[in-house]
Parts: sequence; structure tokens; C-alpha cells
Amino acid sequence: QLPTGEQKLNLSRSHALYQEAQQLMPGGVNSPVRAFRGVGGDPVFLERAEGPYLYDVDGNRYLDFVQSWGPMILGFGFPDVLDAVMDASKRGFTFGAPTQAESELARLVIDSVPSVEMIRFVNSGTEATMSALRVARAYTGRSKIVKFSGCYHGHADMLLVQAGSGVATLGLPDSPGVPRETTVNTLTVPYNDIEAIKQVFSTYPDEIAAVIVEPIAANMGLVLPVPGFLEGLREVTASYGSLLIFDEVMTGFRVALGGMQERVGITPDLTCFGKIIGGGLPVGAYGGRREIMQVVAPLGPMYQAGTLSGNPLAMAAGVATLKELRKPGQYERLEHKSQLLGDGITRVLHDTGADAQFVRLGAMFCLYFTREPIHNYADVKQADTARFASYFWSMLERGYYLPPSQYESCFLSLAQEDAQLEETVKAVESILRQQA
Ligand code: PLP
Repeated sequence: QLPTGEQKLNLSRSHALYQEAQQLMPGGVNSPVRAFRGVGGDPVFLERAEGPYLYDVDGNRYLDFVQSWGPMILGFGFPDVLDAVMDASKRGFTFGAPTQAESELARLVIDSVPSVEMIRFVNSGTEATMSALRVARAYTGRSKIVKFSGCYHGHADMLLVQAGSGVATLGLPDSPGVPRETTVNTLTVPYNDIEAIKQVFSTYPDEIAAVIVEPIAANMGLVLPVPGFLEGLREVTASYGSLLIFDEVMTGFRVALGGMQERVGITPDLTCFGKIIGGGLPVGAYGGRREIMQVVAPLGPMYQAGTLSGNPLAMAAGVATLKELRKPGQYERLEHKSQLLGDGITRVLHDTGADAQFVRLGAMFCLYFTREPIHNYADVKQADTARFASYFWSMLERGYYLPPSQYESCFLSLAQEDAQLEETVKAVESILRQQA
């Protein structure tokens, strides 16, 4: 059921479908955050999408700020992407054999992200991070890995330790079913805390294979790296012979063509991708220095495989998406849109005196319902999730689809028009005034 007093939309068909789904799938969903537990109420069932808009099964239309959690940066039904996928689908869904499209997408990523000299495609971000860590362990001959609390790198056992995203939303510090033996080598430190990293390395100087980090932490809302944090990670890992892995599943091809590493001018040893590089079809990838990637089978001894890896439809969608993004001026256009929205909401926060803060980087943003400074997961947890939930439903009612959790980032797309973003600012303003 929906929170009282917030909901005037007709969502009756969504409710009926959710009743059925709950009998068939745990929580009625195939990924926890979709169940709206972070905001209460039943999820909206979607039927189709076009450009910047989503349409639900009751015929409601929403301006989309979720974008399937990141991939749909061009908006839905982008003609070149559609054509590429249709064309590939006619030629064969999957062969389990090499195709030229894999090299095409590999080249597009390698040409866009200089730290990546060789790449391996997989099917999800989870597979990308899991495999990159296996590479790091194989290459260094070390076992321990370091992650940051509140950073989410997918649902591999060893990484479900103080993870963000759905885990944060559900308030699970960890997950049952993950044996302690699989996480004993996972060391967790606070985000943005370079002293903590130095301490971990001085405790285990020869045992840490890699540090994995979201260069912008986007699974606990949107936490920006403080100046010097990522630079510090680069320095410390290099000095101890450990690898630095940037998990750019979210930020890759989103905050710049070359991801966050381009914006901060840091060269990680390995990078994980997902989301945008598949244009909305299931893809992940990991890549990095040739010398490191050479440990991957069949060239090297580290085993990693996949029946559907490099899937022709996914490669086609990825190639068409990256070709569009590589056209001159695209990221400037995206930045303009994002700034338009950001300046508007910042002004609204100032004018209304709302107890909230706005964080933005490139075409990603988050409205936190707290004014306390936010640098790590502990800070994020101070946000008022009840006020977020009220804001979420009020936005939905006005036709804006936001991530149903305070702990998720919002996304902009090239399909959104300036006028639509100006209207969004007005909607935020009227809700914050009501809340005040
Ligand atoms: N890494 C990051 C930074 C992510 O945001 C996500 C998913 O949101 C993942 C990894 C896992 O990707 P997937 O959901 O495709 O397995």
C-alpha cells in the first residue's frame, strides 16, 4: 500500500501486478531496490519508455531520473541504438564464438579510456568487479582486498561487506549466506579516509592485492571524493605494490568519456565497467594495463569465462551508444543540462531554507535530507529517510520518477530538454515549500 495522503495517481494496475509478482518472486522483484522498500508502498510497474519518459501500466507518464540505474544516457529508443540491435538480432542472438562487434566495442572503450589497454567483456557489473579482483590476486599473488564502507561493487560474496545500494537501503550490514571464510580477506575502511588506508597498508604491507573504489561513491546517494583522496590511493597502492581498481560501472562514460579517472587525471591499474557500455543490454567489462590483463585465460592462467559474454546484441547496443557519446560536444551538453538542474535546485534550497543539501557531479546528482557535511557512509546515514520518502512520492505524483531510496544517485540523460529540467526544479520547489 502507498503512504497515506501522498498518492493521487491511479496505480491500480501496478498494485494488482505487484500482488501477483509477490507470489512468484521474492519481494515480487528480481533486484531488491525495485521493491520500493526504501520509500514504502508498492512499486510502479513500467510498460514502455520513449526518449526521456517512462510509461507505467496505468498509463501514467514520468520524466525518468533513474535511467535503469545509469545505462540509458541517450534516453530510450535512441534510433541508432535501436537499429543496431535490430540488425544484430536478425543476424543471430548469440554464437558463443568471436565476432567483430566485440573488437569494435573493445576499441571504443580503449580509445576513450587511456588506462585500459586490454579488456574482457562479461555480463554484469558484478562479474566485472569479481573478475578484476581475481586478476589482481592472480597478478600480485596476494589475497587481501580493501573496499570502502558504503561502496557497492555488485553482489559477489567477498564484496558484500558494508556494501551500499540495496544493502544500505535494506539496512543489512552484511548478508546471511556469505560464509565468513569468503570475507576474511576483505578489509573495509571509511570512504575519503586516506589515513585509514595508510594504516591498513602498514598492518598488511605485503598482503593486499588491490584497493577497489568507486571514484565517486554513487551507491550511498552521491558522495564525492575529497581532494587528495583518490590521489592518495594511487600513491599508497603503488608504493606497496598493490593494484588500484576503479569501479567505474556507474561513472564510466557518464561523468566524462574517460570516466572519473579522466576528470581527476588518475591512472588506475584496472577499471570495471557496466551499464552505459551495454547501452541498456546486459554487459560488464574489466580492463587495464596490458601487462596485468595478460594473466587472463587463455593468454594467462587466471580463469574467467561466460557463455553469453560479448553477446552480439549487447555489443551492438554498446557500440552504437559509445559512438554517439564520442561525438563532439555531448558531455558539454550533458553538463549544461545537469548544471541547469543543479543551479535551480541549489537556489530552491537557499530560498526555502530546506533542511537538505544537493550534491552533483556531471550528470549524476542526489538530494540528501540533511545539512550535515557528507563524506562517508556514517554521514549518509544521518539523512532523514522519512522526509526523502515523502519527497519521492510527491515527485512521483507530479510525474517525476526518482530512485526509490535516499541511498541512490539520480541520473540525467541527453534526451531531457532544458524546459523539462526547469519544470523539475519547480516541482522540487513546491514540494520543499510544502514540507517546510
Ligand atoms: N559497481 C557499481 C559501482 C555499481 O553501481 C553496480 C550496480 O549498480 C555494480 C558494480 C554491479 O553491477 P550489476 O548490477 O550490473 O551487477
